[in-house]
Amino acid sequence: MDYGPAPESASEVMAWLKDRDDFGHFIDGGFTKPGDGFATENPATGEVLAKVTQGSAQDIEAAVKAARRAAPKWAGLSGHERAKYLYAIARHLQKRARFLAVLETLDNGKPIRESRDIDIPLAIRHFYHHAGWAELVAEEFPNHAPHGVCGQIIPWNFPLLMLAWKVAPALAAGNTVVLKPAEYTPLTALAFAEICAEIGLPKGVVNIVTGDGATGAALVDAEVDKIAFTGSTEVGRIIRRATAGTGKALTLELGGKSPFIVFPDADLDAAVEGVVDAIWFNQGQVCCAGSRILVSEAVAQEFTARLTARLHKLRVGDPLDKCTDMGAIVHPTQLARIRELVSQGEAAGATLVQPETQLPAKGSFFAPGLLTGAEPANPASVEEIFGPVATLTTFRTPAEAVQLANTTRYGLSASIWSENVTLAMDIAAQVKAGVVWINCTNQFDAGAGFGGMRESGFGREGGREGMLAYLKTPEPKAKPEAKAP
Ligand code: NAD
Repeated sequence: MDYGPAPESASEVMAWLKDRDDFGHFIDGGFTKPGDGFATENPATGEVLAKVTQGSAQDIEAAVKAARRAAPKWAGLSGHERAKYLYAIARHLQKRARFLAVLETLDNGKPIRESRDIDIPLAIRHFYHHAGWAELVAEEFPNHAPHGVCGQIIPWNFPLLMLAWKVAPALAAGNTVVLKPAEYTPLTALAFAEICAEIGLPKGVVNIVTGDGATGAALVDAEVDKIAFTGSTEVGRIIRRATAGTGKALTLELGGKSPFIVFPDADLDAAVEGVVDAIWFNQGQVCCAGSRILVSEAVAQEFTARLTARLHKLRVGDPLDKCTDMGAIVHPTQLARIRELVSQGEAAGATLVQPETQLPAKGSFFAPGLLTGAEPANPASVEEIFGPVATLTTFRTPAEAVQLANTTRYGLSASIWSENVTLAMDIAAQVKAGVVWINCTNQFDAGAGFGGMRESGFGREGGREGMLAYLKTPEPKAKPEAKAP
């Protein structure tokens, strides 16, 4: 089948949106009639992109029923058959890569350079990788079975990539899914639904219900076998309580306040570029953002000078411009939250270093910043800002660096910068984080497990551990009564 050339420019994406106008849910292989709902906007301009339907408990129930009906057949396919579908999804995502990158940038506000080079390629890679797992799963995990129906709830910061992290392993393992995208960024999930229909994925294997937190809560309460959630620690806690004692399997990928530790022997220029990737990538709206820079006193002055110079060179503006380093903040509510936390940080004694960038007149923009001199108890050091602002604090000894790194309720990731690999490895083992990067940051691969500890959640996505999260060991069969000889 030929689907024609993928639309490439923003105007073609706008035409695609106009064609569809309002979106319903994707349930049992088709789109439902659009109902009451809400608009999703381009955060760089405030313009409405489309209207999506607010999913009710009935919509969730219909989606879960469809997923339940599809489950036995999907689980019963050979791994090779399931792999063929996953490969087809990957190929179609690839074919539409440019279109999806533009759609993601319009809906989320992230620079096109990131959606084009990071979000979409990594999402595609996730499906290719898990197609491989579908082939292997029976052999690698002979005593395991899929959970059945998985409810999946995702945030807005990497909309299609988070979808891929959830859907690809679930399908590879033989589960069917009901996914709820975030309310600010539902569009690439709906485009993904179209791709599922186009490749002939059996009806009910993937269902997508749009809506807000209430829709998510209805999914948590529905007759699903597993919930996989990525989002805030606050909501993760609510979901953990709601699923307690229900027998539903649960994985939670939550917030973070990750340390970025610079030792005196670090390659300082590389570490400065590391900060760009750690906190100014995706406007800092990254769960594993290196949001607490801890730098050795011995190089603090030099490092801060180089970092500040680099900070002033960042280009903030139109997300569709290929030269833009930082785009728009996802939503005015998130912008207000960033402003509030940064002011609290200043009020508690930190100094904001921020270029006087000319920000676009329309849309939700925030200039990149550093809060220097933030004490560990400063709200800006404690709370996840989820914006393009990192705190910068100094330490004297490796022991103090570890102590400061671990002064957080979170434990998602850490980044360590030193030319002394022995020191870096030693520190890595002492930092309480699910993922530790040495002389790099924000590196993701479908083959490597990603996830947190402490209040950053539990469970892993990606790699072998990520597959296990979508499998269960079946209940042992009752032994037949022993017969008297
Ligand atoms: P959020 O928790 O407000 O929302 C996440 C999703 O949960 C959305 O789809 C939302 O509609 C839904 N939701 C809200 N209330 C719900 C409820 N009561 N029951 C069920 N679902 C509900 O988070 P957000 O603001 O969208 O995302 C930002 C947060 O996500 C940050 O804290 C960030 O650190 C975290 N995050 C974590 C990871 C990770 O892998 N650890 C990745 C991305 C984002």
